[in-house]
Amino acid sequence: MTSDPDRGTGLAPASAPDGAGPADVVIAGAGVIGTAIAWRAALRGLTVTVVDPDLGDAATPVAAGMLAPVSESVFGEQDLLRLNLLAVGRFPGFAAELEDATGLTTGLRTEGTLAVAFDKADHDRLRRLTAFRRQLGLAATELDARGCRDLEPFLAPAVHGGVLAIGDLSVDNRRYAAALHVAAAKAGVQFVRGSAARVLSPGESTAGAIELADSRVIQAGTVVLAAGWRTGQVGGLPESITRAFRPVKGQILRLRHPGGMPPVLTHTVRAIVKGTDVYLVPRADGELVIGATQDERADREVTAGAVHDLLHDAMSVLPAISELTFTEATAGLRPGSADNGPVVGELRPGLIVAAGHFRNGIMLSAATADAVAGLLAGEQPAAEWLPFTPARLA
Ligand SMILES: Cc1cc2nc3c(=O)[nH]c(=O)nc-3n(C[C@H](O)[C@H](O)[C@H](O)COP(=O)(O)OP(=O)(O)OC[C@H]3O[C@@H](n4cnc5c(N)ncnc54)[C@H](O)[C@@H]3O)c2cc1C
Repeated sequence: MTSDPDRGTGLAPASAPDGAGPADVVIAGAGVIGTAIAWRAALRGLTVTVVDPDLGDAATPVAAGMLAPVSESVFGEQDLLRLNLLAVGRFPGFAAELEDATGLTTGLRTEGTLAVAFDKADHDRLRRLTAFRRQLGLAATELDARGCRDLEPFLAPAVHGGVLAIGDLSVDNRRYAAALHVAAAKAGVQFVRGSAARVLSPGESTAGAIELADSRVIQAGTVVLAAGWRTGQVGGLPESITRAFRPVKGQILRLRHPGGMPPVLTHTVRAIVKGTDVYLVPRADGELVIGATQDERADREVTAGAVHDLLHDAMSVLPAISELTFTEATAGLRPGSADNGPVVGELRPGLIVAAGHFRNGIMLSAATADAVAGLLAGEQPAAEWLPFTPARLA
């Protein structure tokens, strides 16, 4: 078992020069959000520098990679649903371009999500959620127990019934992040190891500029803050931003099919097991991701209780996973925001924030990159972004 989330992600900057010259754009944070923005800004002909201290606590490599506007939709988050639908609609084209640019795979899967209920009470809850999702116009097909097992033959006989959401996708977030890093570097983005300590005020600098913890200053036309849950820790920001972000701990497991074993799943399965949610996300390369806990905590300890509960609930609906190899248990910190929506937009001329993507940062990354690269070129983001500007926090 390991708790090292950065293994093999390609997230860390490849080189760490002593200093960086002026750029059109300097981005703090090389997670999925900062790197996606860097790539798209560079494609528009801008010179881009990304700084990241590589603290090893990025959420990006920990995530499950679900791109799930349908099965993530919950009561009271309709604005976020509209944004998530925009994002998932954009994702396949963005991923195809990324694969073309790098020759790497992102592991995008399109089979959809099968939500299943373990017992009758779970099924009642799933039906209420499904009715709500249908009211919002989302496609969801109800299935009885046999219909679920026709789609996924390894499901436990106890499974009561379910719902198929064909609009959901998934991606291998580690392969995707690694491809973004390669694409950005190929497009000329400079990666610098360093920690953004402070944004210089307009009085101190004619354009945007950022001071690193080691006192180096990087001058840029625009500073973009994409430092995940730590974004509010950068100095020189209004209090509304300083207070806006918080870490939300999530623990998650990774299993692998032993050689020769057929895949135990083709769809992402989200199960309600005696009132508790668990999801299982299959990868084409034989990995199976099981997640996730959610706690208002900032530590990254993996607890025995979380590993037990996730495995227990996952095995209740898919007993065959007992044959898989246990490869990893990890904890990561989701970048939560004051209202759990992303915060994307201009704080003042020369300063943009792109953070607070909480449970949906992988899904929202392509749409965020479009929005911020557009802002850098003087374009207005799509209307779906309007409820998510920093102005709402002031
Ligand atoms: C268990 C779990 C499961 C998840 N599952 C999903 C999922 O299925 N689908 C989905 O869409 N999302 C999922 N997420 C959420 C997703 O991982 C995040 O929303 C997303 O990774 C946020 O990306 P980011 O680039 O904003 O932040 P991060 O990935 O956290 O990256 C922030 C980067 O900023 C750097 N940094 C920090 N401070 C500074 C500084 N001062 N200067 C410069 N750089 C700095 C850090 O080193 C880090 O590299 C999950 C998260 C967790 C924890």
